[in-house]
Amino acid sequence: MTKEKISERRLKELFEQVRKEAESIEIPISRNIAEIKINTRAKARFGCCRQQNKPLSGKTYVIEISERVLCSEEKNIRQIIAHELLHTCKGCMNHGDKWKTYAQAMNNTWGYNITRTSSYEKLGLQPPERRNPTAAEYKYVLECQQCGAKILRKKRCKVVENPQHYRCGKCGGSLKLL
Ligand SMILES: [Zn+2]
Ligand SMILES: [Zn+2]
Repeated sequence: MTKEKISERRLKELFEQVRKEAESIEIPISRNIAEIKINTRAKARFGCCRQQNKPLSGKTYVIEISERVLCSEEKNIRQIIAHELLHTCKGCMNHGDKWKTYAQAMNNTWGYNITRTSSYEKLGLQPPERRNPTAAEYKYVLECQQCGAKILRKKRCKVVENPQHYRCGKCGGSLKLL
């Protein structure tokens, strides 16, 4: 289901393609885009566009694309780049009317489906693993012989190895490994 990640070089090539597409329909994207880079930490966002104010060069933009997105189809990756690129137009840091008009123009001309938000499903990607472990991850279950309380452990640990040395935290009963 998930494809192999594209390289940073390929990401930059795609960025140049999208930039040309936008320019060809006269969308006034900024000429001061300092860089496009890969964000390895972002989970909730697929991309972001940050404005920097440098004393010498003035306003510049940095576009970040989440590493997870790089496993999607190239068309989806270009779509995310386009979404962020439109934020570099004057007055387009939010998803207001101006931004929406440009997004619509990109969609109509180049067949994108640029929307305000996207999802892992739309990108054909597996969502990141949930924080809460599933029941299957608990390999060891100890049960209190008195009150029936269960203690779950993912790994072998002292209480798993020597349950007779431990007591139930609720009632003080003895524990048994199931
Ligand atoms: Zn946005
Ligand atoms: Zn108990």
